[in-house]
Amino acid sequence: MDGMKRVGFVGLGIMGSRMALKLHERGFDVTVWNRSRAKSEALAAQGLKTADSPASVARTVEVVCTCVADPAALESVALGDRGILLGAHPGLLFIDFSTVSAELSRTLEAKAKEAGVAYVEAPVTGSKNGAAKGTLLVMAGGDADVLERARPVLMAVGEKVIHCGPVGAAATVKLAGNALIALMLQGLSEGMLLAAKSGVDPATLLEVVQASGYRSPYFDFKGKALLARDFETHFSIDLMFKDLNLFLESAGKLKVPTPVVGAVREVYQLARAHGQGGRDITAVVTALEALSGIQLGGGSS
Ligand code: NAP
Repeated sequence: MDGMKRVGFVGLGIMGSRMALKLHERGFDVTVWNRSRAKSEALAAQGLKTADSPASVARTVEVVCTCVADPAALESVALGDRGILLGAHPGLLFIDFSTVSAELSRTLEAKAKEAGVAYVEAPVTGSKNGAAKGTLLVMAGGDADVLERARPVLMAVGEKVIHCGPVGAAATVKLAGNALIALMLQGLSEGMLLAAKSGVDPATLLEVVQASGYRSPYFDFKGKALLARDFETHFSIDLMFKDLNLFLESAGKLKVPTPVVGAVREVYQLARAHGQGGRDITAVVTALEALSGIQLGGGSS
């Protein structure tokens, strides 16, 4: 990591706080900023430096990273009146880990280039546990030489980097991956509810799924959480709703029919209407339970 030791991190939510801490643990000199100060103060207590704006983070580092909720948040921290590009300086590298649209990624790359800043999009998968362990999978979009400069930082938060293509390609892959897990979780939840209402133990259904050709590590993780009715937030319903909308917007522009993702988006809307938006995506099942009159853990809702 020669010459790339000072790293900034903007956005200290579930993912960003853990990624910034992992960079610190792995020897980087990390300066952080978060919209709500309490989250940067919590990391300052663990030895990380803080700055008073995204622009001042950028001014003091060689690499500035972002991991914020959505496109509006990323535009604000990158292009706003205290944003990262106001702290641009020769040699600065900007790595965005947020899940946003390919369109915004391409816009930011162009604006960064105008300011003399190199840009890589690097959405991740692996969620809260992967961020805590530094084992995320990184989907990277950008020029190969810029990606090589970013690699030490990417490999400090993740265990594998897949170069998807130019900026925009990784955003597209990430949104398709999230649509897939929403569909997988939906299928499992609906199957478990049918089992429960038919008098079959949903745990038996999960056991058969995981012993068969349709098994998945994802079903292991989320299936156990569903059976335990453990809705602790790893990835919120609001953020998945954002990703399904971004997927559908992109599909709409390109005239790609995606009827099933459209239907699942409405299920997420239903869960949000039930006040579940901040809870984990497994809590979508609670909205379905209310409609079907049965709870996975037994009993009627
Ligand atoms: P989160 O816990 O909800 O954190 C969101 C972060 O964005 C917080 O730091 C929040 O600041 C900040 N933010 C929101 N609106 C803002 C604004 N207008 N201006 C400045 N900052 C703003 O979300 P997360 O789970 O860490 O996810 C972060 C990103 O990673 C999202 O794009 C998400 O889709 C993606 N992602 C999440 C997971 C996962 O499993 N959780 C996995 C892969 C990718 P405050 O603290 O002030 O609210």
